[in-house]
Amino acid sequence: MSKKRVLVTGGAGFIGSHLCRKLLEKGCDVLCIDNFFTGRKENIAELFSNPYFEFIRHDIIEPINLEVDEIYNLACPASPIYYQSDPVQTVKANVLGAINTLEIAKRTGAKILQASTSEVYGDPEHDVQSESYWGNVNPIGIRSCYDEGKRCAETLFFDYFREYDVKIRVARIFNTYGPYMRPDDGRVVSNFIVQALTNNKITLYGTGQQIRSFCFISDLIDGLIRLMENDIALHTPVNLGNPTPINMKSLAETVSGLVGKTIDVEYLPLPQDDPKKRQPDISLAKKFLDWQPKISLEQGLIQTINYFKTIV
Ligand code: NAD
Ligand code: UDP
Repeated sequence: MSKKRVLVTGGAGFIGSHLCRKLLEKGCDVLCIDNFFTGRKENIAELFSNPYFEFIRHDIIEPINLEVDEIYNLACPASPIYYQSDPVQTVKANVLGAINTLEIAKRTGAKILQASTSEVYGDPEHDVQSESYWGNVNPIGIRSCYDEGKRCAETLFFDYFREYDVKIRVARIFNTYGPYMRPDDGRVVSNFIVQALTNNKITLYGTGQQIRSFCFISDLIDGLIRLMENDIALHTPVNLGNPTPINMKSLAETVSGLVGKTIDVEYLPLPQDDPKKRQPDISLAKKFLDWQPKISLEQGLIQTINYFKTIV
């Protein structure tokens, strides 16, 4: 039997490179597209010797014709400092990227999974966010290129399903971390670890009371693949994330403790529209995918610290 041909857009990024690796392990023929905006060749270097791994340097805002069985659409910068550095490109990557990948799915009949985000909930009015919540999003702020771009991409996915019967999956991914994040990625876990290892001050924005829930990368990859493979047509977005909340001040203390140093904290202003609390309700993923995270924050941080020790 021929191998399943799987396209991963954004495959040289943090999540994408783990996904490519896992799909190859599972016996798939993997086609990775990336423009290296935030992705790195180092993330996929060891895959180039595998005959079932192919790479195309391509910007997903341009159409492309490919024959595949499944598509994971991940191409979009995820860190606020990167997605805000070129907001128009961020909107294009989300909206045109969704249209271009959905067109491939429409023509080939491939299943297609969108890497959506908890950011579609904006600054939520509910402590715990479930998929039925429509969100509280500023449409004209500095995060809007990402939030509204991802919301429009979800709209396009559901319109392609309703209008053309495209086989869609939409994962709302909550904060995920792990090896292969860029040291200069700018997101909180990599920032704190790199700062702790290089002995600088940890930069805490605002009072540090804002809450996030962090999912280790191996758990997320398992969830994404389960969602793609699930044959119950789930015509709803599905939250994927770790439901255990922690505030950023406690995260800074946990990272310092695991690195084994006393680190000073430098308080910096809270960025505009920074959400106060993100915590996923994962009942849908538990019920339909039999999925929940297995790796504790401490276990995941230790693996991530060990990775960063090798590169900083
Ligand atoms: P990342 O920045 O490490 O990876 C994104 C990849 O997409 C990079 O390799 C980048 O070069 C590539 N890319 C960006 N624009 C592109 C374009 N126009 N054409 C082709 N490639 C392009 O981020 P990540 O954390 O791996 O996130 C992957 C996906 O998951 C993103 O869509 C992101 O929005 C989503 N997501 C991630 C998280 C998280 O916590 N990591 C949370 C929610 C959603
Ligand atoms: N944050 C911080 N210090 C940093 C980076 C981020 O205190 O060096 C905070 C940020 O203000 C936010 C949280 O950590 O409240 C998570 O930020 P991140 O950029 O990782 O992801 P977000 O969930 O905001 O998209």
